Amino acid sequence: MLSLSDRAARIVQAEIRNMSIECEKVGGINLAQGVSDTEVPPLVRRAAQVAIDEGVNSYTRYDGLRELREAIARKLRRHCGIEADPESEITVSAGSTGAFYCACLALLNPGDEVILFEPYYGYHLNTLLAVEAVPSYVTLRAPDWTFAPEDLERAISPRTRGIMVCTPANPSGKVFSRSELEAVADAAGRHDLFVFTDEIYEHFLYDGRRHVSPGSLPGMAERTIIISGLSKTFSITGWRIGYAVSRPRWAKMIGYLNDLVYVCAPAPLQRAVAVGLDELPPGFYDELRSKYQRKRDRICAALKRAGLPPCVPEGAYYVLADVSRLPGETSKEKAMNLLRKARVASVPGEAFFHGSAGESIVRFCFSKQDGELEEACRRLEGLD
Ligand code: GLN
Repeated sequence: MLSLSDRAARIVQAEIRNMSIECEKVGGINLAQGVSDTEVPPLVRRAAQVAIDEGVNSYTRYDGLRELREAIARKLRRHCGIEADPESEITVSAGSTGAFYCACLALLNPGDEVILFEPYYGYHLNTLLAVEAVPSYVTLRAPDWTFAPEDLERAISPRTRGIMVCTPANPSGKVFSRSELEAVADAAGRHDLFVFTDEIYEHFLYDGRRHVSPGSLPGMAERTIIISGLSKTFSITGWRIGYAVSRPRWAKMIGYLNDLVYVCAPAPLQRAVAVGLDELPPGFYDELRSKYQRKRDRICAALKRAGLPPCVPEGAYYVLADVSRLPGETSKEKAMNLLRKARVASVPGEAFFHGSAGESIVRFCFSKQDGELEEACRRLEGLD
């Protein structure tokens, strides 16, 4: 009898996407999926058009266009204090999701355990399941999403092979402090573990916070697989341009797998992203932070008024809110009720927790044009 693979039995449609589909059915405002429908920098848009016209339309090298790898290396030096060789340590992939998948294929065996900080991003979990790795969890303590080094130590077993650190974090907005990252680095060093990072929200930081890339800590370059991309920073989530940075012995295989799965990321869009990385001035990133901080403050105020207390995020562009007061047994029912009543879509908390801790939480994305965000806030404030 024909059947799906055993692996497929563990994979379900991401709740983030489900809620976008439900939202479309009722013509609601989608604060569920982190689609980023803010403006693409005109310089980046134009560079893509020019690249197509100039004929940058065929396959690139398996690990990306040289000019993009070089632009990423310059950006890593400037922004993260990291030296990476564009010739052997950077793999451009189909978004950071693609980069993480290729890294997992390259580095994990079935049964290997990888630690996720909970609440986690569902795509991290499902990517691990897709390669038959086994997640284990360190549950962050609300409302500040902290953890103690002992929590991490307890989660490590003889089968542990890696730790995933998403900073600034989706969905909690936690920005890992230097001392927390040092605790991760210390545990990774003692137990000889990979550290996978997801730094896609590296420019979305509030209240004067700075990004610390886990790979920049002493001794970490050997074992860190930095994952990031430009989807969020340039509002180009549909372009699929992300990358992995690691030592050549890892990068080579990550690149071969990237070739196998995607062949390459879209060529003209790689060129345009390189132009954006090199030519957008520091003021672009300052403005991004202040623009998003205003959006954060607007939605948090609305949630407070609506009686849905938010955990005010330190970074990224999501906010978790306590929706205990809404009708429904589960976070899914609560999110669906909210969608029906206010026509605002959110993601049920259960998508970010392996146990029942997410049942009175939903996540809202505030990466929206001001007008639409304002309308969503008004609808939330009008909830009875
Ligand atoms: N990162 C986005 C989110 O968390 C969505 C990514 C996706 O749709 N795969 O909502």
